[in-house]
Amino acid sequence: MATLQDSSTSSRNTRGVPIPVVSNTAPLNPADFAHDRLRPRNAITPDQTIPTTPRAAADYVIPTLEVRRKNDKFLMDGNKMLWHLPRVAAWQRGERIAPIHIDQGISKGCNIQCHYCYGVTQGNFYRKGSERVFPREALLNYMRSAGKIGVGSIAFIGEAEPTLNPALYDAVVLGKQSGVDISIATNGVLWDTGPAGEAALEHLSWIRFNISAASDASYRIIHASKEFPRVIEKIKFCIATKRRKNLPVTIGLQMVLTPKDINECVPLAILGRELGADYLQIKHCSDTVENDLGFYERLDEYEKFVPQLKEAESHSTADYRVIAKWDKITNKGVRRYDQCLGAPFLLYGEGTGKMYTCGMFFDGKYEKDYFLGDLNEMSLEDMVASDHYWDIIEKVRSRIDVHKECYANCRTHSCNNFLWDVKTAGGITDSVREAHAGGYSPDAPPPPHVNFI
Ligand code: SF4
Ligand code: SF4
Repeated sequence: MATLQDSSTSSRNTRGVPIPVVSNTAPLNPADFAHDRLRPRNAITPDQTIPTTPRAAADYVIPTLEVRRKNDKFLMDGNKMLWHLPRVAAWQRGERIAPIHIDQGISKGCNIQCHYCYGVTQGNFYRKGSERVFPREALLNYMRSAGKIGVGSIAFIGEAEPTLNPALYDAVVLGKQSGVDISIATNGVLWDTGPAGEAALEHLSWIRFNISAASDASYRIIHASKEFPRVIEKIKFCIATKRRKNLPVTIGLQMVLTPKDINECVPLAILGRELGADYLQIKHCSDTVENDLGFYERLDEYEKFVPQLKEAESHSTADYRVIAKWDKITNKGVRRYDQCLGAPFLLYGEGTGKMYTCGMFFDGKYEKDYFLGDLNEMSLEDMVASDHYWDIIEKVRSRIDVHKECYANCRTHSCNNFLWDVKTAGGITDSVREAHAGGYSPDAPPPPHVNFI
């Protein structure tokens, strides 16, 4: 982490804390660009052995939609497009709308190495990548511009670890003050337990800790890191701060389910409850169609995991939910829509400020044709208003073959399901409402975090 230990400073942040100098042009070894860097490791890491205790056939039956909806109080296993119908209507009229949500990377590296990291297919170079971040001033200007044009939410999430960018905490505060709901997904190792971290918690809608191991020994294999004790301490700090200050922030854990960590889901469900988290989300592993991580070709194995997922969910309480994303875990990566219609509603930003409509465009063969613009060179407002931006939106809709090119269960997947249903039904029909409202009534108060579609 040479970047963060750099004692030279160019300026101070809003609390007078020196801002480390970071380089955005550190040279990278071309060999590091291989998208499948994790596949060799995954090939030699043994699968966790599923307990051989005989199971009844009923244990393999996926919970009914009614049961799933009742448990999924955050509407994680779906989308929240029904609560944004004015913007959907504007899009249907051909207007140039602002995105509702943006998944935004703000660094290109990470301090741990999860075996399922989709970021390696996008440009995450681990320690080397930590020298490349979204520059501070451009990031703060982006927060202001996003608020100005009506972006509903930004999640600091994506290809790499956001806490490697020293401007993270100020961006959270400024983003929220600009009118944008902000969230963070982090491994937690470097979370600031001083005033900056507390200020961020006061302004966040949610923070989610990426943790797929319930013990120190498992963490060393699954995340290739010795930082398990420190992660647990950071989670405890955030939960204690929330309680002490009575903050509205939702604090969750997220497990990425693979055959290498299947036996962690029940212990993690128990650990999350003991820590006092609000939820544990268990999601599928996203992989490229080229099988870069080694899991795309194993998506049909997820059916074997149903008993463990149900057992994990049984640890939900009134105040703590264990939520398996059943739809994505069990769909085997198959899409029922033929076009990516969600691009105008949900953007993706890579870790230095380049913007796209999809995470798979960050690095590689799509970069040239699907690059929207660089927030170091223009404002989000100007980008979204440009002809170039809308030309690319149209190109994504008309040229991308979602069945052959797209990675499994992308972030836009559920929004695409909604928009495709609207398109084929000819509008927002009762059946569209029924299919996409989850356990909520579209006419009643919305689910939590409604802008995070
Ligand atoms: S914490 Fe996130 S960015 Fe880092 S290796 Fe894990 S999945 Fe990748
Ligand atoms: S459907 Fe395809 S193009 Fe659209 S966001 Fe998902 S992966 Fe990207």
